[in-house]
Amino acid sequence: MSMVVAVVGAGTMGSGIAQTAAVAGHPVLLFDAAPGAAARAVAGVRERVGALADKGRIDVRPDDLMLTAVGTPAELAPAGLVVEAVVEDLEVKRRLFADLEEHVAADCVLATNTSSLSPTAIAAAARHPSRIVGLHFFNPAPVMRLVEVVPGLETSEEVIAMAGELVAAWGKTVVRSAATPGFIVNRIARPFYAEAWRLLEERAAEPAVVDAVLTGAGGFRMGPFALMDLIGHDVNEAVTRTVWTAFGHDPRFAPSLAQRALVEGGRLGRKTGHGVYAHPSSAGRRAGSRRDAGGTAHDGVRHDAEGAAPVAVRHDAGGTAPVAVPAEARKAPLEVVAHGAADLDVLLRRSGVAVLEGEDDHGTVELPSGALLVRCSGTSATELAAGHGVPVVVVDRTLDDATATAIAVAVSDGCPERARDEAAGLLQAAGLDVHVIDDVPGLVVARTVAMLVNLAVDALHQGVASGADIDTAMRLGTHYPVGPLAWDDRWGAATVHAILVALQDGYGDPRYRPSPLLRRRALTGEALT
Ligand code: NAD
Repeated sequence: MSMVVAVVGAGTMGSGIAQTAAVAGHPVLLFDAAPGAAARAVAGVRERVGALADKGRIDVRPDDLMLTAVGTPAELAPAGLVVEAVVEDLEVKRRLFADLEEHVAADCVLATNTSSLSPTAIAAAARHPSRIVGLHFFNPAPVMRLVEVVPGLETSEEVIAMAGELVAAWGKTVVRSAATPGFIVNRIARPFYAEAWRLLEERAAEPAVVDAVLTGAGGFRMGPFALMDLIGHDVNEAVTRTVWTAFGHDPRFAPSLAQRALVEGGRLGRKTGHGVYAHPSSAGRRAGSRRDAGGTAHDGVRHDAEGAAPVAVRHDAGGTAPVAVPAEARKAPLEVVAHGAADLDVLLRRSGVAVLEGEDDHGTVELPSGALLVRCSGTSATELAAGHGVPVVVVDRTLDDATATAIAVAVSDGCPERARDEAAGLLQAAGLDVHVIDDVPGLVVARTVAMLVNLAVDALHQGVASGADIDTAMRLGTHYPVGPLAWDDRWGAATVHAILVALQDGYGDPRYRPSPLLRRRALTGEALT
């Protein structure tokens, strides 16, 4: 008979983990401190497994499950592995493990599903800290493939191996993370939200525009604002604050005042009917007890932003208000002049415009009006225009120019409308929805991805995880279209580095300081994956 698995805490995560282990054929014991909670969770698991079996998704029937609710921790004695998924409270978890050690066998592995506490700290009070390991499942545990295995300082290699092999046998993809704040996913994902808030706080673009650009150009399944409305701003902001605090208030992780205001105002997202967007249809519907961004990823897949009417958190149409250029305004030029490699070849080809070779070599495309089209390397259009002495339109980057469906552009201050419309027309002729946003450094996709890459490279640099595990974790844990390190290889470390340097320079903010390893890779051109 396979090993007995015990799960303590029968809430959102505990019942999902119990389901996963039971479906994998383990006898599972489920305990919860709240009377009746474990029995209810067992009934819930049986119901869900029945529904999955009816749909032919799994070939296990509810009657096959060896899943039992127990009333005391003493009844967990037969377990070879205990996974705790109780409240996120260090003292509660410490007491729980001390208590469990009284009952279980000497070789029983004790795992914690904590998403923000240190497994080292949880294990510190245990008699045998070497058998305590973090096993960070994502919500919903039966569906999400990723599990971060997080050893504490004292965790033995045998325990790490055993825990990893076991959950791998449950069909999970295991990555190993050092016990540092946010582990892999909740650390590296922060800029996906943070840069969106920055854009909003600077009134550079409406939330719906940021979302449309990150999905249509960035290839993300869901935009950050729609995703945060789904996760809940209370939950999302709490993760940001935890990581920020744990990193000694490193500006890279600084939370957003605009998001704070939403939390303080009770505009938590779908679960309250209103977040960044209004969600009239889901008003009052509770989103369950998601406690952290572990739940972000999967939630992002199942829902979309359709029907969510954009509501500006605060956006005054000043002189720099973003404008949507309607398709009728298309004034696609028939020919342009390319001065050197402008990194715009694919988009130009898609637009059908004729490209003549220019005499200069500054990597720009000259529009008929004389304005220059430039690919985003972080520097603002106005700054580039000052250098070139002509108006400039900066074109954001994409995951893949061949398949992108949207694009953000920014024009230099004082740029004539004609130049803007030529640029917009050209990009619309390439089949893209064009979003003209305010002239901020790094536009939308370039800045967001550069920061995701930066944090990924920094995590690699600091030995948080291997490069392969970082990319796997971000693809499976957040459903990014490619891992950030692979993304860096697509754009080139020199480009990503340049974007960060321009952002750091443009804002004078150490938030954008490039990782030392990224700087080295930018110099050598060596790939990260
Ligand atoms: P939850 O509130 O849904 O469930 C917690 C359960 O633990 C409750 O049923 C509660 O009665 C029980 N409990 C509390 N103290 C207990 C004790 N001392 N002994 C036994 N049972 C006890 O919480 P959740 O969302 O399932 O989160 C559980 C853990 O998983 C937390 O550490 C959380 O950080 C982590 N986590 C959550 C998510 C997520 O998206 N919800 C994702 C990954 C990790």
